[in-house]
Amino acid sequence: MKVVETIADLKRLRHKLPEPVGFVPTMGYLHEGHLVLVRRARAENSSVVASIFVNPTQFGPQEDFDKYPRNPKRDLAMLEKEGVDLVFMPSVAEMYPPQFDSWVEAGKVTERLEGATRPGHFRGVTTVVAKLFNIVQPDKAYFGQKDAQQLAVIKKMVADLNMNLEVVAVPTVREPDGLAMSSRNIYLNPEERKAAVVLYQALSLAQKLWSQGVKDAQTIRQQMTDLIQKQPLANIEYASVADAETLDELDKVQPPALVSLAVRIGKTRLIDNVVLG
Ligand code: AMP
Repeated sequence: MKVVETIADLKRLRHKLPEPVGFVPTMGYLHEGHLVLVRRARAENSSVVASIFVNPTQFGPQEDFDKYPRNPKRDLAMLEKEGVDLVFMPSVAEMYPPQFDSWVEAGKVTERLEGATRPGHFRGVTTVVAKLFNIVQPDKAYFGQKDAQQLAVIKKMVADLNMNLEVVAVPTVREPDGLAMSSRNIYLNPEERKAAVVLYQALSLAQKLWSQGVKDAQTIRQQMTDLIQKQPLANIEYASVADAETLDELDKVQPPALVSLAVRIGKTRLIDNVVLG
């Protein structure tokens, strides 16, 4: 496995890799959720490129960029074990030199949910992902369903801008109690960690209601909200039942519908979702 820090080195080595090339972009501090993307990429491609880059432009000024967990040595050992061929680990200055001044922005699909609570977040995501796609030139890129809106936004960008690759969605990997794996779970103290299962409980309730024939989206939102509000450590930001592609809120559930949540457990903001359909 080769590890490079500059765009020039990445491009040079990328051109020697057997095609097709699968790409897994990450912010590091890897867990099983990331490794499932890597394994899928490994199974479907002749070569696998991964990136580790905590992208400052997708963090708001009050967000956790500085304290976002990092452990590159451990990450590289994990990627090597999964048979990754090439890892791109650029510095912030490599990706955003002082003269950098161009941005990629998707439209309406970025305005709601995460976009509404994290202004500028998706502009940072689409810009860095477009840059990474141009640098790595993958045939397929792998993204987790865990970040459902990010997936919808990237699919939209790729379609609208005719980017020459396929976006592959990979199902969410969960802890045994149902909590979606996330690098940010490390922020939770033991009591908060136990409380965090409430997101999965609320999503499971939504799935149960749907399977029992409940079609009214507001009933599902309300029942999830009621359940979450019973957990004293939880503060709900949104409970959404939306069209899985446009993310427009639904009155009547029409599959595939995206049920998604953002909940603060103590100071830690967690997101999770399920698709009904
Ligand atoms: P991040 O490092 O958090 O930016 O995540 C990198 C990629 O891994 C994104 O495509 C995420 O959606 C995906 N990912 C993160 N957590 C999980 C998980 N629990 N299951 C599946 N994919 C995940």
